[in-house]
Amino acid sequence: MTLRASLFLLIAVILLGCSTPPKSIEHKPQVILKLDDLGYEEGLVHPGWQKVVDFLNEEKVIGTIGLIGDSFLEGDSAYFQWIKDRHEEGYEIWNHGFCHCKPMVDSVEHREFRGMSFGYQLNQVQQTQQLAKEKVGITLTSFGAPYNSTDSATAAALAQIPELTIWMYKETTFPTEKTILPRIPEVNIEYPVHVPDVDQFKAGYAQFKSEPVLIIQGHPRSWTEDSIRWDNFTAIVHFLKSEGVTFTTPQAYVRGMK
Ligand SMILES: [Zn+2]
Repeated sequence: MTLRASLFLLIAVILLGCSTPPKSIEHKPQVILKLDDLGYEEGLVHPGWQKVVDFLNEEKVIGTIGLIGDSFLEGDSAYFQWIKDRHEEGYEIWNHGFCHCKPMVDSVEHREFRGMSFGYQLNQVQQTQQLAKEKVGITLTSFGAPYNSTDSATAAALAQIPELTIWMYKETTFPTEKTILPRIPEVNIEYPVHVPDVDQFKAGYAQFKSEPVLIIQGHPRSWTEDSIRWDNFTAIVHFLKSEGVTFTTPQAYVRGMK
C-alpha cells in the first residue's frame, strides 16, 4: 500500500470511529446480601455460616450478617473474635433482634417486634446494641426484624436509638425517620424461605434490575442441608458477578446516596 493510500485509510478509519455513537453506560443495580440469624452454635458458629463466609471471601464478594443479640450471652471469646474478623473484612454486622423468639402473652403467640409493648421492644433492640459494643466493640447501625414482623411500637422504639439509622425490610407504613431499604418479594435468594433457587432469582432479577439496589435475603444455616441449596446459592452469586453488579452493605449504600 502506498503512503497516500495508507493515509487515506487512516483518515477513513478515524472518521468512521467518530461517527459511532458513544455506548450508553448500562445501569447495574447494587446488591446487598442480607444474611440472617447469626448465633453461637457448635462452639463457634453454624458450619453454614463458615462455609458462606469462606465462599464469599474467595469470590471477593461482601455480605452482611444479621446477628441475634442473646448469642453474646452464650458465646465465648472465639465467637466474639469471629464476629470481629468479619467486621474487619468489611461485612456489616446488623441488629437482628435479641431473642428471635415468639413470646407468649395471655396464651397468644406474638413476634419479638409485633404485638409486644414499646418498652419490651425498646429493651430488645437496646440489649443487642449494648452487647455489640461491649463484647465486640461495634456500633450497629442497621436493623432488620426477625420474621420481618414489626408494628408501630417498633417504629417508636427505634426512634429512641439514633445510632440505628437504617431499617431493612420495613413492612408497615408507620412513620419512621430511618432510611428504609425495601424488600422486593420477587427478588430473593430463597424461594421459599431457606431454599435458594437460581432460576427464580434470575427471573426476578430480570424484572427488577433497573432498581438502584436489591436487598436479597437468605439463611446460611439452611444451605448446608443439601448440596442443591448450596449450588443454587453459589450460582446466584456467580450470576450476579457475571452481570457486573456491585455488592455493598447498608451502611456503604446509604453513605453513597448522600
Ligand atoms: Zn431471622
